[in-house]
Amino acid sequence: MQPERALPDKEKQFSEWYSEILERAELVDIRYNVKGFVVYRPNLMRIINLIRNELESSLISRGHQQVMFPIVIPMSYLRKEQEHVTGFEAEVFKIRAEEGEEELALRPTSETAMYPMYALWVHSYRDLPLKLFQTGTVYRKETRATKPLIRGREFFWIEAHDAFENKEQALTQVIEDIEITKEALRKFGLAFIVVEREEWDKFPGAEKTFAFDCLMPDGKVLQIATTHYLGTKFSKPFEVIYLDRAGEKKNVHQTCFGPGISRMAAAVISIHGDEFGLVLPFDVAPIQVVIVPIPKEGKEKEVIAKAKEVEERLEKIHIRTLVDASDERPGAKFYKYELIGTPMRIEIGEREVSERKLTFFRRDIRKRWEVEECELEVEVLKHKEDILKNLTNRSNEKLKNAIVRINTKEELKESNNKIILMNFCGNQQCAERIKYDTKGYEVRGSRIDKPEDVWGPCAWCGSEAKKVVIAARAY
Ligand SMILES: [Zn+2]
Repeated sequence: MQPERALPDKEKQFSEWYSEILERAELVDIRYNVKGFVVYRPNLMRIINLIRNELESSLISRGHQQVMFPIVIPMSYLRKEQEHVTGFEAEVFKIRAEEGEEELALRPTSETAMYPMYALWVHSYRDLPLKLFQTGTVYRKETRATKPLIRGREFFWIEAHDAFENKEQALTQVIEDIEITKEALRKFGLAFIVVEREEWDKFPGAEKTFAFDCLMPDGKVLQIATTHYLGTKFSKPFEVIYLDRAGEKKNVHQTCFGPGISRMAAAVISIHGDEFGLVLPFDVAPIQVVIVPIPKEGKEKEVIAKAKEVEERLEKIHIRTLVDASDERPGAKFYKYELIGTPMRIEIGEREVSERKLTFFRRDIRKRWEVEECELEVEVLKHKEDILKNLTNRSNEKLKNAIVRINTKEELKESNNKIILMNFCGNQQCAERIKYDTKGYEVRGSRIDKPEDVWGPCAWCGSEAKKVVIAARAY
């Protein structure tokens, strides 16, 4: 850990703040020196694994099973669905073929790896629904500027690929995917908007695309999960066919769901963090309570014994606890656990031992207070809830304040990094014009978590509006 020094102002200099926190909290090392590839360090991996476990167990509890597919995809598979390959080919890392062998791609996403196998596994309606997921990395040759965890050439995610008898069942799955994502984001204290992406902005090969966007401190939105209804667009070329109850051959209806673990970690880091470091809610905190013994000469034994006793009591109620009895100064320890976002700290010194009291500290509000030792469990559990509530409120408030309703082109041009709510004609050319003229505002789609009725003409071109959309600058 590096010496004490405040981080840059997150709201004013987000980029600088973000780079510094990744380095100082020992989350990412950017010195690997390959564009778009970084090293995830232990402090980040512990957070990543908590996010991953949350999503995986949620998928498993809803009937998904885990698989692992190869990282390479034969180019002939990748080219089977036309829109899909058109959408991805430019970004694909290819592995040069050996004499007599087929050229391979590093998976940019796994539809075309998995569905040839689905064709072998699915025979009748009895094999459906098929609900499988894998956790791993995917590769895309990103040409824009890269940013660790936010936009890279390698990213870590979960992809769930499901097959059903009909459209209705598949769309029910899409709703389930949205529920899974909402549940996770609520545990992480993150505010979000859920939109249906526009026709031209769908996942390549999808019939419908739904996405979760989070608001980052610089006013840009970050897409952190998507779920797609694929219809029979893949099951036709890949021949994923089943015999229905009447003995008729039919194509399965498919969905795929991709919660981005790296990006969720980026959102947790960016949205909750402050000038002292990370701020984590309990569910993504590798250490939930750190106990710092402050021994005085001659009293070390009693203080350490008390710290151990408190640790044992917290472990009994499943709190991830650490006693830091190293010989660093208490101040250095306070700084260190604040930097890595440990939600609560308990300080135990000679006075606490003799008065049977504990000194608590909360990272999110940076407040210290004292409680009777017998209140330990009640106090920790109460603040565990309070911390999440506080972080959720803060992030909801920021999102709410960032959204503005506009009616004219001028208002959009002057909207200065806000998230825009506007009437829209539905025309792709109009959206392209907006992006060009505002240097970056993208039509993100219409909100499905808070649908709105059209109240006027398209704010940009003035023609009849078909829907209300969100427009924002985006990562
Ligand atoms: Zn328009």
